[in-house]
Amino acid sequence: MKGSLMVAADTQTINGQTRFPQDEAARYGVEKPLPAMVRGACPSLSAPMQTGDGLLVRLRPSTPGLSVRQLRALAEAAEKHGNGLIEITARGNFQLRGMRPHSMAGLAADIDRAGIVPERGVAIEVPPFSGLDPSESADARALAGRLRSAIGSLDPKPLLAAKLAIIVDGGGQLVLDELSADIRLKAVISSNDQLWKLSIAGTHATAIPLAVLPGEQAISGVITLLDALAAIGPRARGRDLDAASLKAQFPALPDLVHSDTALPASAIGIVALGKEHSALGLRPAFGRIHARDLLRFLDLAETAGALEIRTGPEHSLLVLGLPGDLAKDILAAAADCGFQTRADDPANDIIPCSGTGACASAHYATRKAAADLIDVGADLLDGSLKVHLSGCTKGCAHPSPAMLTIVGAATGYAIVVNGSSSSEPVAYIHKEGLKSALATLGKLVRNNKAAGESARQCLKRLGRDAIATALRQG
Ligand code: SF4
Repeated sequence: MKGSLMVAADTQTINGQTRFPQDEAARYGVEKPLPAMVRGACPSLSAPMQTGDGLLVRLRPSTPGLSVRQLRALAEAAEKHGNGLIEITARGNFQLRGMRPHSMAGLAADIDRAGIVPERGVAIEVPPFSGLDPSESADARALAGRLRSAIGSLDPKPLLAAKLAIIVDGGGQLVLDELSADIRLKAVISSNDQLWKLSIAGTHATAIPLAVLPGEQAISGVITLLDALAAIGPRARGRDLDAASLKAQFPALPDLVHSDTALPASAIGIVALGKEHSALGLRPAFGRIHARDLLRFLDLAETAGALEIRTGPEHSLLVLGLPGDLAKDILAAAADCGFQTRADDPANDIIPCSGTGACASAHYATRKAAADLIDVGADLLDGSLKVHLSGCTKGCAHPSPAMLTIVGAATGYAIVVNGSSSSEPVAYIHKEGLKSALATLGKLVRNNKAAGESARQCLKRLGRDAIATALRQG
C-alpha cells in the first residue's frame, strides 16, 4: 500500500531501542506474572506464567533427550491439564500452554511420574548431538557435566540471574552459534591440546573473547565469571561484566584462534551421524504442535523403532533410532501430523512468536502473518535469512538478531533490519499495511537480486535506506 511507512505517533526510539508507550501494557493487558513469579525468572512448573491462553510452563529436561514413552506422557499431560499446545523454544525448551491454577498439581505429578526431571540451576546448553556426532571437535556434554559439578560444589552458592545462559559447544553439525549466551565455551581446533575459547555476552559471532584455555582451566574460567557476576548482583548478565579487567586475569589471547565455523547443517530432514547412524529432524509447524498430533506421530515413530527424541536448533525435534530405510515413510507421516520436514521448506525461514490468541502482549496474529509471507514474499525465503515475526518488543521466539524482524505495536508494526525485536527500526507501517509491506520486501529482492546472490546478500548490499525507501514507496 502506498504511503504505508509512517512513524507511529505513540512510538519512540531511545538509545537506539524501539520503545512503545508505558500505557500500552494496561491497554493491551500485557502478560502479568503470577504472584509466585518474579519478572525475569523462567516460567517453571512451580512458577508458571499467566498468558493470553492460560498458564504457561517452560520445561528443560535434565537428560539429553526423552524416550518415546516420556514424550508421550508429556503430550498426554499437556492435553489433560492444558490446552494441548506444545512449543519448542529457540533454546530447545518445551513450553506447555493453557493450564489453569487448579491443573498445575496434576501436571507436575504426571511429569514426575514419567520420570522427567526438569533441569535446575544455571542453564548449561550443549549441541543436541554432542557425544554422538563424529564430526564434532570435542565432547561438549562431558565438559558441561564437569562444569555443572563444579558449579554445584561451590560454597556459598553464587546468586545468579534466573535467565543466565552458558553454552558449551564442541562444534559438529548442529551448533549453537546463533544462540546468545552470557558465557560461551567453544571448542578450538588445535594440533595439540583440546582448547576452549571463553567469551561473554553474545552469539558466536558477537561474543567478546576473553581467553583460550584447556578443559579444566576453562571450567575455572567460567567459575571466575560466575563469581564476577555474583559480585555485581543477582540480576547481572554477561553484558554487565568488565571484559577488559577479566581479560587481564587470563593468559593473553593467541593471535589466531580458529574455532569451528563451518556452516551448520539444517536440523530439518535426515541428519547423518557418521556412516551408520542418522537422526530425523522435524520442526513442528512454526515451532508449535498440538498434543494429539504429536501423539499420532509418536505412535508411528515408535512402531518404526524410534528410541529417543531430543530438541534442537530451529525449534526442532530430533528423532533417534529410526532405521534409515524407513526414514522417507516417517517423514511423510510426520508431514501429515503437522511437522515441517524439508530443509528447503520456506516456512523454516519464518520464526513467529505465539501471537494474538496465545499471548496477551501480542499486537498481531504472527502465524497468520507467516502464512501471508509465504504467500506474497516467497522471494525472501530462500534459506539464507530468517524473518522474525514478534508480537511485541520482547522477542521471545528469537532473542538473537535476524535479518528482518517485524515487531507489533498498538498502532502498527516496526520493521527492523539486521537486529533484534528491540533494535532501532528502519521503518514503521500502519496496521493495515503488513501484507503489502511483506510483498514489497519480496519484490525488492526479486527485482534486485544479482546472479548467484542470496536474499540475505541482496538485502545487505541494498542496505537499510534502500529497504526503508522501498517500504515507503510500496
Ligand atoms: S514476543 Fe510474542 S510471545 Fe513474547 S511476549 Fe511478545 S507477543 Fe508475547
